[in-house]
Amino acid sequence: MVHEHDVVIVGAGIAGLYAALECSRSVDTAVLSKVFPTRSHSISAQGGTAAALGNMEEDNWEWHLYDTVRGADYLGDQDAQEILVREAVEVVYELEHMGCPFSRTEEGKIAQREFGGHYSDFGKGPIRRACYAADRTGHAELHTLYEQGVKNDVRFYSEFFVLHLLVEDNVCSGVVAWDMRNGGLHVFHAKTVMFATGGYARAWKVNTNALSNTGDGMAIVLQAGLPLEDMEFVQFHPTGLYPSGVLVTEGARGEGGFLINDEGKRFMEKYAPAKMELGPRDVVSRSIQREIDEGRGIGGKGYVYLDLRHLGRQAILEKLPQIHELILKFAGIDAVTDMVPILPTSHYAMGGIPTDVNGQVVMDAKNTPMRGFYAAGECACISVHGANRLGCNSTMDCAVFGRRTGRAMAKFVNSGAEKAPLPKDALARGRAKIESLLAVKGKESPAAIRDELQQTMMVNCGIFREEKLLKKQLEIIKSLQERYKEIQVSYKGQRFNTELQDAIELGNMLDFVETIVVGGLARTESRGAHYRTDFPKRDDVGWLKHTLAWKTDTGVRLDYKPVVITRFKPEERKF
Ligand SMILES: Cc1cc2nc3c(=O)[nH]c(=O)nc-3n(C[C@H](O)[C@H](O)[C@H](O)COP(=O)(O)OP(=O)(O)OC[C@H]3O[C@@H](n4cnc5c(N)ncnc54)[C@H](O)[C@@H]3O)c2cc1C
Repeated sequence: MVHEHDVVIVGAGIAGLYAALECSRSVDTAVLSKVFPTRSHSISAQGGTAAALGNMEEDNWEWHLYDTVRGADYLGDQDAQEILVREAVEVVYELEHMGCPFSRTEEGKIAQREFGGHYSDFGKGPIRRACYAADRTGHAELHTLYEQGVKNDVRFYSEFFVLHLLVEDNVCSGVVAWDMRNGGLHVFHAKTVMFATGGYARAWKVNTNALSNTGDGMAIVLQAGLPLEDMEFVQFHPTGLYPSGVLVTEGARGEGGFLINDEGKRFMEKYAPAKMELGPRDVVSRSIQREIDEGRGIGGKGYVYLDLRHLGRQAILEKLPQIHELILKFAGIDAVTDMVPILPTSHYAMGGIPTDVNGQVVMDAKNTPMRGFYAAGECACISVHGANRLGCNSTMDCAVFGRRTGRAMAKFVNSGAEKAPLPKDALARGRAKIESLLAVKGKESPAAIRDELQQTMMVNCGIFREEKLLKKQLEIIKSLQERYKEIQVSYKGQRFNTELQDAIELGNMLDFVETIVVGGLARTESRGAHYRTDFPKRDDVGWLKHTLAWKTDTGVRLDYKPVVITRFKPEERKF
């Protein structure tokens, strides 16, 4: 079956739904999602959305820009970062006017709280910049955007799993998707396609992400012969609940929570004496891991404590209600009376599909645009987060660049763009993927391969990296890719075949993880979240550049492109 739309957006998180809202004002818009839209991972964003509203104290976008540039360890493109922080203010008010239920100050303004990496006056004291709806900010934002999409007659295709991007002669004409509910394959033919497919932290055992965050969009882009950018930069969030890694928001430290080691000390004194628990995430995660590795985890185990007790029952229940409930349900601990065991947890993809500042995908180091293909949100690399993202800058990135991408696509369609013809074998390309998986009569279980991938990524490609471990991981990935060819999907039907879904997602993970490891091996420096124990210094002479990675038959090919620097020249980071 072939569906015709002006715009096809894959992904119904904040980025996809903001773009859909913009497009649906003037053109026919469809959104495909492998989960029901409001189950997208954006729903679980807790702490807030950064914007220099200045509702609590003086603030301005230039301070926010400085923090974003420095947080990114100077690898972000400063033209894109400036757009992010300037439009952030407009976008928060736009969300408010759509009815997004933000928490309020006593005067009725949008309330703001402290978050790691956000400071006043070019890096001085902490500042309240994170706009929040208690600790369920993503929930409030995603529902607001979904309502607007429904109101504007966006056509939603829920539980459609996109398998393949249709590209010929560098022009995109649509996607092929599997209807997970009813079985069967569908072709979506469009003037423009946008990927807003989210992150990939499910490739690590300890992670904060939804089950659906398997980096499909990034893998599909690689499979279509396009590159990914800066994939070696993977953010570990400092505070995952031990042992699963379920997120405990940075808002908990923003509200005044302490980190405590086995000696009962606030160990951040040693690593970031000025900013303490509110240093940027890469710094705090490494500090926690060091304490654990050097035997100062609680009882010598793999966790330290987050102490919220001094905040008091009322503040915890009012400002961190979801966190309180989550800790109670997942760990059986009442954070009002007891300390909470935490460990760093894989959280966020700084890298992804390379785009320009209007979301159009670019194909090489010269930034050659691809006609009809756009991306935004966590799957994209614009690049605003460089080597390390600041807390609350992601929902903001999704909103600002989702909106800009939606506007750019609507403009493209309204300028009279024609649909590119579909490739002759469009459906067959998707069918080949599913049928080949169902046809294999191998003995390998997808779950066992996935488990090995996740466990080994933690050890060999985690917070601390070194050549020996990365090389070992590359070998492991290659052997898992071989074993994948012998994968067994025992149920052969196509309706709600979650075994088939797992197998497809695993294949995607095995594709993109290679770019992370190969990019990380090549980058012989430490910058932001990419920390090499064998090259512990940042090297601006050799490495102030973006990585581009293609997947070829002989392995990953790398190229590099310059970083856009406008106002702030690289300096040493001290916190
Ligand atoms: C627990 C948690 C808390 C967070 N808290 C904050 C916070 O407080 N502040 C902040 O700024 N950031 C936060 N983040 C980060 C932020 O929430 C995410 O980066 C952001 O929401 C990603 O949104 P997105 O629109 O890119 O994609 P997502 O919301 O991840 O949605 C991805 C969409 O793509 C679809 N999709 C994927 N693959 C396919 C496929 N093959 N076929 C069809 N559809 C597909 C999915 O169905 C889904 O609709 C948090 C992240 C987590 C995990």
